[in-house]
Amino acid sequence: MIRARKRFGQHFLEPVWAARVAEACQPQPDDQMVEIGPGTGAITLPLVPRVGRLLAFEVDRDLAARLVARQVPGLTVHTGDVLEDDVDAVLDGWLAAGRADRAFRVVGNLPYNISSPILYMLARWWRRWPGLVDATVMLQADVADRLVAKPSTGEYGVLTLLASMSAEVTRVLDLPPGAFRPQPKVRSTLVRLRFRAPEPPVPHPEVVDRLVRVAFTQRRKTLANTLKAVAGADGLEIGAVLSAAGLDGRRRPETLHLVEYSALADAWVAARRAPSVL
Ligand code: SAM
Repeated sequence: MIRARKRFGQHFLEPVWAARVAEACQPQPDDQMVEIGPGTGAITLPLVPRVGRLLAFEVDRDLAARLVARQVPGLTVHTGDVLEDDVDAVLDGWLAAGRADRAFRVVGNLPYNISSPILYMLARWWRRWPGLVDATVMLQADVADRLVAKPSTGEYGVLTLLASMSAEVTRVLDLPPGAFRPQPKVRSTLVRLRFRAPEPPVPHPEVVDRLVRVAFTQRRKTLANTLKAVAGADGLEIGAVLSAAGLDGRRRPETLHLVEYSALADAWVAARRAPSVL
């Protein structure tokens, strides 16, 4: 009997639900899969025989050792924190030994305490390894709601906008707390992130990232008010930048679509390059 470790966010899937998650990945025989947090192997073991190869990152040494001991053909287990820097070298090495096109997919019943950092990490992976096709990940339902949210709703925010710069997100499956042992207090949702460049393109993603994070610190205030200080720090006058972007400064941050944040970032960069008028 495995005792779940709370600090690692362990909630193990019941076999019937794990099989559904594996099936929802639509595994193909030549797929290269990366799993985050295999735990006891609930998703891993049904998946490995159905894909080309699978690399799993598991922080819990005991669980990782148990999986390694099974000596499953095609399965590589890396013991350690998936958010640590050495993971890049591990992934690089594993991809280099595999398919020539380096296409790979991700699956994970994520530890909920670090699901946001993992989502940002996946976007970074896609920028570093464009072969990343998709990620099928379990999240708590309210995080999934934020990922698929529409503007002008309470769920729309930083996570929605930043995720939309690298992926299209769809809801795959809703799961009750009873699908896990021990049961979490919240409902869960399996989502799929399909990685792709945004359309229309976002020329200055790092500026969008910065502006969105600042804008949503006070989502009920007007754009002009929330961004005034950060504009000033960059030597810019917020009214001029907003009008160059074609945006009404009285709008609230939660009403803007990605394409509008991107226009704002373009205007911001252009204004910074222009001779200062202040
Ligand atoms: N995949 C298993 C399942 O569905 O039954 C376990 C899922 S459990 C929700 C999350 C798993 O992620 C646990 O095995 C936990 O030890 C592992 N984990 C937690 N934090 C991690 C981290 N930073 N890096 C890698 N694995 C982690």
